Amino acid sequence: MKEKPKVLIVDDKIENLVTLERIFSDMDVEFVRALSGNEALMHTLEHDFAIALLDVQMPEMDGFETVELMRQDKLTKHLPVIFVSAIYTEDYHKIRGIASGAVDFITKPIIPDILRGKVRVFLELYEYRLSLEEEIVRRAEAEEKIQEQYDEIQIHAHELEASNEELRNTQEKLIGLNREIQESEERYSDLFDNANDLIQSVDAEGKFVYVNTAWLNALGYDKGDLEHLKFADIMVQEELAPCLDLFERTMRGEQFNNVQITFVTKHGAEMCVEGNVGARIKNGEYVAARGIFRDITERIIAEEKQRELDAMKSEFISNVSHELRPPLHSLKGFTKLLVSGKVDDPKTQNEFLAIVDKESDRLGDLIDDLLDMSRLESGRFKINKEVISLKNIIHDAVERVGSLASEKGITITEEMNSELPEMEVDGKRMGQVITNLLSNAIKYNQENGSITVKSEVSNSDLLVQVSDRGIGISEDDIPQLFERFYRVEASDRIEGTGLGLHITRQIIEAHSGRIWIESKLGEGSTFSFTLPLRQN
Ligand code: ADP
Repeated sequence: MKEKPKVLIVDDKIENLVTLERIFSDMDVEFVRALSGNEALMHTLEHDFAIALLDVQMPEMDGFETVELMRQDKLTKHLPVIFVSAIYTEDYHKIRGIASGAVDFITKPIIPDILRGKVRVFLELYEYRLSLEEEIVRRAEAEEKIQEQYDEIQIHAHELEASNEELRNTQEKLIGLNREIQESEERYSDLFDNANDLIQSVDAEGKFVYVNTAWLNALGYDKGDLEHLKFADIMVQEELAPCLDLFERTMRGEQFNNVQITFVTKHGAEMCVEGNVGARIKNGEYVAARGIFRDITERIIAEEKQRELDAMKSEFISNVSHELRPPLHSLKGFTKLLVSGKVDDPKTQNEFLAIVDKESDRLGDLIDDLLDMSRLESGRFKINKEVISLKNIIHDAVERVGSLASEKGITITEEMNSELPEMEVDGKRMGQVITNLLSNAIKYNQENGSITVKSEVSNSDLLVQVSDRGIGISEDDIPQLFERFYRVEASDRIEGTGLGLHITRQIIEAHSGRIWIESKLGEGSTFSFTLPLRQN
């Protein structure tokens, strides 16, 4: 509850105090009585008064002195005081009273309404002062609160500044770390990009996440192609199912070493690779299958070539043995007969000796072929050139195979231009070439067939052609005929080693010439070669 405003009434006569209280009985105030100036001062120490009504004439200390003391004290300095006096009624009294610090001076007899009116003004002032004080206190409190909040904000600001600094430091550290990571990433990607091996990383959906430059170069793709390319697109169709199985198992965490896969390049070529496949783990999950492969296409082709060569060599050895056996048999048989003395007819003896001679030649030719092969392989094959007429060489060769041809009823026709110039060639080797072509034309011919040998000058070359009407050669076999040991399967039953044409080509090429075949299966073949008329 709000306190009533206090009014200090001071008079040495109690009846005067009662009178005053009666005058203000209708006002809501609390009176504090004092019977002397001293008592009044005592009360001011305890209470806060709205106004004091003071008698002037009092024993010991009069009203003037009391007010003067009040004015000296901080608490009572501004306390409004109204003097009420019945005796001091002169103007100078009033002046003295105002001078001592009173706000009014009322003389008796008191007109209650006037006194009440005056007091009411001071009560209102008091109320106003109180509310002002409250307001001041409230503002002070609010200000204090604001100050506290401000201080708190200030503290927070300091804390913020400190954590900002920390953040800045951490950020700098992070930037440093990032730079390091970036540099190490660059180092790794440089390593991967410049590796000779094909490196790829494929995600769970089969899309390429990374491939290195070697991979792009080998498969003929651009980086831009990768967006639409899937792992299955570079697999050869026949290996798709096992490769997808391998991929799924890899994504479940299996690791595969030295797996062989066939890729298909952008241009459709097949490429054999060998390498290791494993999964990349992120947060405990297999996120990508990575593979590092080597292109082994070349190796496989060598290996295949080597296998073919090995097969050819063993076939060659068996052929050579077969070739050697019949002449050896007949040599041995006829020699035995002659040595035994059972053949005494000189004519038969001569026939036998002729066979021995022929078989010895055959053996000698075979051994020569083998020696030539070995010379070719070791680089010791020599060409000794001399100026001779090729016409004679061809003619001699036809003579040499004459008996072989007539055994099969084959006729050989020479179509030679009479103006053939002399040339600088290795006569013996050229004889070997023509003999070989003619004996093939006889071997792979029909009974009673025919052979034509043609020779003419064509541009700045000498052209020689040996044509037969024999079994012919298929288109597929022609390109391989000059390879060592190569024999057409169909001619298996006919004796041979597969060396003749290989040696022939080497000899022609050693003379800067060219050799080629035109043939139709079942109709016959033409072997042609040219030699430049002017040898370097
Ligand atoms: P060889 O006759 O000893 O087998 P060559 O190197 O002389 O070896 O010939 C290689 C192969 O070429 C022969 O095995 C034969 O299959 C084929 N060939 C050569 N000449 C002819 C020809 N005139 N007609 C048909 N096939 C031939």
